[in-house]
Amino acid sequence: MAIYLDKNENAFDIPENIKYEFMEYIKKTNLNRYPEKGLPSLLEKIGDFSGFNGDNIIAGNGSDELLNIIIHQAKGNILVNTPTFEMYQFYANNYGYDTINVPLKSDFSLDTENITNKNNVKLIIICSPNNPTGNLIDRDQIEEILDLHIPTIIDNAYYEFSGEDYTDLLNEYDNLIILRTFSKAFSMAGLRIGYGIANRNVALNIKKLQAPFYINVLSAKLAEIMMEHYSTVQEHVKYIINERKRFYSAIKDIAFDSRANFLLLKKDLYRYMENRDIHIRKLPLLNDRSRVTVGKKEENDVAIDAIKEYISENL
Ligand SMILES: *Cc1c(COP(=O)(O)O)cnc(C)c1O
Repeated sequence: MAIYLDKNENAFDIPENIKYEFMEYIKKTNLNRYPEKGLPSLLEKIGDFSGFNGDNIIAGNGSDELLNIIIHQAKGNILVNTPTFEMYQFYANNYGYDTINVPLKSDFSLDTENITNKNNVKLIIICSPNNPTGNLIDRDQIEEILDLHIPTIIDNAYYEFSGEDYTDLLNEYDNLIILRTFSKAFSMAGLRIGYGIANRNVALNIKKLQAPFYINVLSAKLAEIMMEHYSTVQEHVKYIINERKRFYSAIKDIAFDSRANFLLLKKDLYRYMENRDIHIRKLPLLNDRSRVTVGKKEENDVAIDAIKEYISENL
């Protein structure tokens, strides 16, 4: 049977009891009506959940949409650190903006010196834990970048798997936007909800660029329901972290350790795995590597066996 470990999705679907709760809501909701303007209830609830006010929260159709809006608004050079999430360059290119690439160092840390030397940067995007390398970016390095007072995004899509919270930096830096998502830890990739946390003026300026009914009522409601069931989310996250540790120790020779729900492999095993009906991610920016998502135990066992076989035949 095919195994999909290619998109960093959550291995767990939303449990049936929560789906029933959601269905009850759908039954009694008038879908002929528009959502409430500005989605105040969703923003308040995300605020409560993350320890901020609704004023500090922006939401979008996936954090991808927020990236799109913020990059568009930057109107100029976007600084990225490859290898990283490809969508940053995708959106910048769409708007005809240049990306300034300051590659990560060989240990996947930020090259802060070279970042600091660049002129005319309108927006810096730091991904932590970084996709596809899996490592956290050091707080001191992040603060060094924030001290440049250039608008900066920390893309924190894998926050829940990492245990590293950067929100305290918002007290000190009003040039910071932290982006998170319901797609990974919350098992909601199909529903498309992401959010950002920022200084209220920064959040307000982004809200001004959004249409009044920017998220549909069903996605918004399910996000609210999932926050009420956070203990279930935490159970799934804990399971995946344990599996990640097991997966990594089984294939250490060929993988980098990770603080997310995936592992970067030191070889391009895309074709090799594909031939075994195990789908992993080919990396356009790193042609000698590949990325595998941590799934359920049974899926990981099959992937681990295949990778071990590769190691014994090739390394
Ligand atoms: C998955 C991912 C996202 C986001 O996703 P949405 O589904 O659009 O919320 C954002 N950034 C990174 C680095 C990701 O890996």
